[in-house]
Amino acid sequence: MTPLQTLKRRAHACTLCAPHLPLGPRPVFQVSSTARLLIIGQAPGTKVHASGIPFNDASGDRLRAWLGISRATFYDAARIAILPMGFCYPGRLPQGGDAPPRPECAPLWHAQFLALMPQRQLTLLVGSYALRYYLGPGSMTAHVLTPDAHPGTFALPHPSWRTLGWEAKNPSFTTEILPRLRADVAALLE
Ligand code: SF4
Repeated sequence: MTPLQTLKRRAHACTLCAPHLPLGPRPVFQVSSTARLLIIGQAPGTKVHASGIPFNDASGDRLRAWLGISRATFYDAARIAILPMGFCYPGRLPQGGDAPPRPECAPLWHAQFLALMPQRQLTLLVGSYALRYYLGPGSMTAHVLTPDAHPGTFALPHPSWRTLGWEAKNPSFTTEILPRLRADVAALLE
């Protein structure tokens, strides 16, 4: 068994924050030692928890449209790795909406996985939790609209329907950032 296979097995067996997970642990991620594109997302929703497939929902459809790639390409683990900030469904907030990714998860697992994915050339940080963890404080909009401030990384909003209003207010995301992102992703995945 390779070191990455061993790490995957350990992560899939993780129960660290089981007392906080209303549906129990079910870590969802996609990794390989050859992936050149890494997507760091938020946390599974109930649909992703049920299927065990990352971004297998409307948000995933929107993200694939942003990237200009098919489902087949998106789920080709040899080329694309997907690590959420929290691998398991975190439940709901009392006031509605999904709870934040469990804070234990990224500090426990991310550095270990990144060390075993040496071919990464481009990282997409998707949503405010990934942006804050990897880029530090600052507004989501500022991070997204200044891709040259963090080479090798694109900052993206979480691709939920709630982002539609933000996109309307920030048209350069559609007219400038997304074409650039699609070109970089296409060149990387050729
Ligand atoms: S969210 Fe992460 S740290 Fe918590 S049980 Fe799942 S895999 Fe383990």
